[in-house]
Amino acid sequence: MQSVTKASIQVEDISAQVVFKPVKNINLRIKAPGGDVHISAPRGAGMRRVRDFLFSRLEWVRRHQRKIRAAVPQKPSFPQDGEVYTVWGRQYTLLLVQRDKPASVKLREKGIVLSVRPGTGPEKRQAVLEKWFREQLKGAARDLTDKWSRVMQVQVNKIFVQSMKTKWGSCNMADGNIRLNTDLVHLRPECLEYLVVHELAHLLEPSHNERFQSIMDEFYPLWRKYRRMLNG
Ligand SMILES: [Zn+2]
Repeated sequence: MQSVTKASIQVEDISAQVVFKPVKNINLRIKAPGGDVHISAPRGAGMRRVRDFLFSRLEWVRRHQRKIRAAVPQKPSFPQDGEVYTVWGRQYTLLLVQRDKPASVKLREKGIVLSVRPGTGPEKRQAVLEKWFREQLKGAARDLTDKWSRVMQVQVNKIFVQSMKTKWGSCNMADGNIRLNTDLVHLRPECLEYLVVHELAHLLEPSHNERFQSIMDEFYPLWRKYRRMLNG
């Protein structure tokens, strides 16, 4: 078996993972949601050629990274009064309430109410809010998985919600576990639904081949639209 060599390079502000393997041409891909740059190159290409290749595409890479990263709405660094958060694709202004009761988060028509004990610092407020985001996503993902696993006749074991830099989600066929990126809670609910159907479809077909696409066409005809939204 021929070996695959990996390396990483940096050209100006752009860093990339390079894989040397049996391919004809140098290929460059930018992965959502983090905008990571992946290059595959023929084994004999040499770092110099890869570097020149990346250099010639820097503007293109930057433009696409901006596009991909724009899929996730900007988040304030810390929760305080008047900051704007996006939940399921809708914007809410944060109302910070300080009272001597256990911390809570409530979503109201116009705003998101974060209630903490007086004197609670920004890190703790952040942790409370992030936990609530994860719970929202987990609840919604569980409902959607119940619905779609029945429709698609597949068996899901566990759903994990976690922060992921390079993926929106993944599915482990062997154990039937699904992992979802926490940031999905900030996007339109259809994006999550598309992703759940996508990961469930992997229980029927592991790769993104034609069969996979026809499964998606059958169960979620608008999947290409939401894939574009997620991947810029
Ligand atoms: Zn996939």
